[in-house]
Amino acid sequence: MSILVYTESENGKLKKAAFEVASFAKGIADLMNTSLTAVTINAENVDELKTYGVEKVLKVSNDKLSKFNADAYAEVISQASKKEDSKIVVVSQSANAKYLAPLLAVNLEAGYASNVVALPKLGEGFVVERTAFTNKAFNMTFISTDVKVLGLSSNSFGLKENEASLSEEDFSPELSDDEFGIDVVSVDKNKDKVSIADAEVVVSAGRGMKGPENWEMIEELADVLNAATACSKPVSDMGWRPHSEHVGQTGKPVATNLYIAIGISGAIQHLAGISASKNKVVINTDPEAPFFKAADYGIVGDAFEVVPQLIEKLKEF
Ligand code: FAD
Repeated sequence: MSILVYTESENGKLKKAAFEVASFAKGIADLMNTSLTAVTINAENVDELKTYGVEKVLKVSNDKLSKFNADAYAEVISQASKKEDSKIVVVSQSANAKYLAPLLAVNLEAGYASNVVALPKLGEGFVVERTAFTNKAFNMTFISTDVKVLGLSSNSFGLKENEASLSEEDFSPELSDDEFGIDVVSVDKNKDKVSIADAEVVVSAGRGMKGPENWEMIEELADVLNAATACSKPVSDMGWRPHSEHVGQTGKPVATNLYIAIGISGAIQHLAGISASKNKVVINTDPEAPFFKAADYGIVGDAFEVVPQLIEKLKEF
């Protein structure tokens, strides 16, 4: 029996979330003294998975799977799980994975725990810690089924390097037309923007920016740093920025290498979502702003003066 992890890709490239779920699944494999297998769908750079402890990759290459299809993808993963006799299947909590995970659980007659944030406790049965009520609480969930599907909450575990020797195997699951009941006609996506989940750097701004018209410099700073843009909750509530950019306790969690917070006070609910980021830089006019206590580097200053200078300096590199 090995642990199976579904490692997602986009346009043939494995996503950052794939390396996080692999790191997490490797943690479970170590706890259970077993091996780790990944299944990929139309991914090319599968070799990178060995850095995160994956020992075997089942590579599925099928043009019919070039667009995400929840039923078909769930079928592929369940066949991979049966082939490997995997009792634990780990997926991410991307929008696509959230869609396919319950279908996968039905296929495998498995218990499904979403929003898992830590390695399972194995003392008295199989117990996982999960977030609840939009991250306001945690609960411990006991899974009693033989087969288990776990959805790892993004950015809750981080990347853990654990070099393994990797073998690759082509895998061709049997897919009938029934698995393609939904035909994805097109996918409308902003291709130029770095997503918060995949970003190494996030430039985030708050109410201190005064209004949506002032986001041009935030976008420019993000461009220079190849960063994703994010914002505080009131900013998205007021419609200055899309809700997809809201980070914090009730928004997206962020665990980047560098989080730059501009004109954000640092309320506890905001900090709850970004505390896993490695380096936090704060730009705020108020030296008493609570964010400075959580910051690695701080600039007490007006964003409208500091940010343009920062952009100019960074352009020199
Ligand atoms: P403000 O608190 O208004 O702070 C603006 C900051 O900008 C100030 O520190 C000010 O000094 C600074 N500033 C002003 N002008 C400038 C300038 N020219 N240059 C530089 N700095 C300047 N908030 C979240 O962000 N995420 C959440 O997930 C979240 N969840 C919540 C859940 C609950 C249940 C509740 C009750 C609240 C939640 N909040 C959340 C809201 C949170 O409590 C704060 O109200 C919010 O984070 C404040 O946003 P802000 O820092 O952008 O605005």
